[in-house]
Amino acid sequence: MDYQKILQSIQRDIEPLKSEGQQADYIPALAAVNPDQWGICINTLDNKQYTLGDSAVPFSLQSITKVFALAMALSLEGDNLWTRMGKEPSGTAFNSLIQLELEKGKPRNPFINSGALVMADVLVERLPNPEAAFIGLARDLSGCPSIDYNFEVARSEHSVAYLNTAIANLLKYHGNIHGDIDRVLRFYFMMCSIEMNCQQLAHAFLAFADHRKPFDHAGFQLTSSQVKRMNAIMQTCGFYDEAGEFSYLVGLPGKSGVGGGIAAVFPGQYSVAVWSPRLNAKGNSVMGMKSLELLTTHSRQSIF
Ligand code: GLU
Repeated sequence: MDYQKILQSIQRDIEPLKSEGQQADYIPALAAVNPDQWGICINTLDNKQYTLGDSAVPFSLQSITKVFALAMALSLEGDNLWTRMGKEPSGTAFNSLIQLELEKGKPRNPFINSGALVMADVLVERLPNPEAAFIGLARDLSGCPSIDYNFEVARSEHSVAYLNTAIANLLKYHGNIHGDIDRVLRFYFMMCSIEMNCQQLAHAFLAFADHRKPFDHAGFQLTSSQVKRMNAIMQTCGFYDEAGEFSYLVGLPGKSGVGGGIAAVFPGQYSVAVWSPRLNAKGNSVMGMKSLELLTTHSRQSIF
């Protein structure tokens, strides 16, 4: 498959969308990013890499790191994790409070903020130094020891954390956060602040693309069956209130973030990371989503 040629045709085809959408600005530090950037990288399981555009420019992973949190929480808790959250698409925004109130503090899935806050609580409770363990996993998966938190982005998000604080309080009220709320929130913002470029992110997701191999990274282990199930959750819950649309248009498991990144996998073949800061109304990257739609269309490869 000539992925490089496909990437070039994608770059041409998405050009008309270049001023559509707006970058996230509810986190002040993200509002400062130049929105007119686009990069993509494919890493195949047979060790080939195809890149184009701004694929070496680091960006804020935001909710994409919830996939790493799930790998760690599942490794530590196994199926017990599902006593504290579900695995159903939410059909609501990532930071919505309504459903959480109606469902008495049990988040619908690990990839909305409430689910990720519960996972942050698990990691804070179970690990002596969760920040060190989390960045250790991100470095191991990306193959890049220089990957780091962006403390400024974490501080910036903390300074406007009204909704996430409300979610954490609701979870605590229902007994679904065991530890100190502020400790859990601080760790959550740190997780979201990690930066990678598309090349490093595609590398990090190879571990999920290779679902026939057990996961064994930085001291965290998952069976191949657990990796497969993580892909299932990415497929059904990875794109906010647009997981159905992403499944329909792209047909790959993945996860997006409000930094404009999307990481996806074609199980058994490749991982792909795409980044462009302008988001649609649901919070997914406009050019990122279109790029992946064109990738699976032109390559005629998707899980369906
Ligand atoms: N840190 C962001 C928040 O909690 C993550 C949002 C996202 O990327 O979905 O609002």
